[in-house]
Amino acid sequence: MSHIINVSSLKKNYGNVKAVKGIDFHVNEGELFAFVGPNGAGKTTTIDIICTLLKPDSGAVIVNGYTLGKQDDKIRKNIGIVFQDNLLDNLLTIKENLYTRGSFYGLSSKELSAAVEKAARAADVESFYNRPYGKISGGQRRRADIARALVNTPKILFLDEPTTGLDPQTRKSVWDTIRNLQKGTGMTVFLTTHYMEEAAKADYIAIIDNGRISAKGTPSELRAKYSTDTLRLISKDNERLTTFLNEQNIKFIISSGAFIINISNTLGALPLVNKAESLISGFEVISGSMDDAFVKITGHVMREDAG
Ligand code: ATP
Repeated sequence: MSHIINVSSLKKNYGNVKAVKGIDFHVNEGELFAFVGPNGAGKTTTIDIICTLLKPDSGAVIVNGYTLGKQDDKIRKNIGIVFQDNLLDNLLTIKENLYTRGSFYGLSSKELSAAVEKAARAADVESFYNRPYGKISGGQRRRADIARALVNTPKILFLDEPTTGLDPQTRKSVWDTIRNLQKGTGMTVFLTTHYMEEAAKADYIAIIDNGRISAKGTPSELRAKYSTDTLRLISKDNERLTTFLNEQNIKFIISSGAFIINISNTLGALPLVNKAESLISGFEVISGSMDDAFVKITGHVMREDAG
């Protein structure tokens, strides 16, 4: 699969603040790439650099075959950007906003209508198309922002924390819009988020923490490598189960009346459950979550006050 974005040895300081400390990663064409990290990790700095809005101190970035710093105009023509701030005019309807935006691209009126209609469909804004931007909900605004970024039919769509500040249900529906858009058009989507459960639905994840990439891989690779599955045993007789586990040299803790044991993978529970069958009245295997993986990778929980 070809790399539509390649970032190598990228560095950026703001005075004494080392925001990005020499990072390397790539994005595969047509995939949904999640760039995950807590507040201040360096996500916006990185995305701003890739989108030609900020100059790096050193390193190389190639976007769709074009070299950052030398072919920035070409890069800008190939990307659409959705930032956290609302950029549309509150008084204009979504349709009027999209036409205004589209008029920057020197299209004929027929091409302009086709581009605007296509963007509106892809971002799922048709049900509030004729309402003023200032009078729609937060989730609808996000979709309208996405439609705006699609008017020039970009090859890569960048979204900086598209779901931050939305309630969980709206976050899910905006996420579904982004996913459907990426699947339906084959567009590459690069988004930043601090919600691990969202990142788990991406094709590939890079985790940035304190200016460095601390892990990257598909969600299942990261889960397999960093999160721990657990086995919960409900004992018939605590004393006998304790003796049995000690004899087997198996570490456990007792929590809420159950024996909790870390296992390398869910299948690892089988032999133990078989051996302990006569001593337990039930068991449960819990797969490690992306949140677990994040804690293992960064050594801390994602701060929920982000954004
Ligand atoms: P958030 O999730 O809060 O948006 P982030 O991961 O996008 O965070 P950045 O905004 O890239 O992080 O910031 C990385 C570091 O650089 C932080 O320590 C931040 O305070 C600092 N920083 C960002 N922009 C500037 C600036 N213009 N001047 C000085 N320091 C900055």
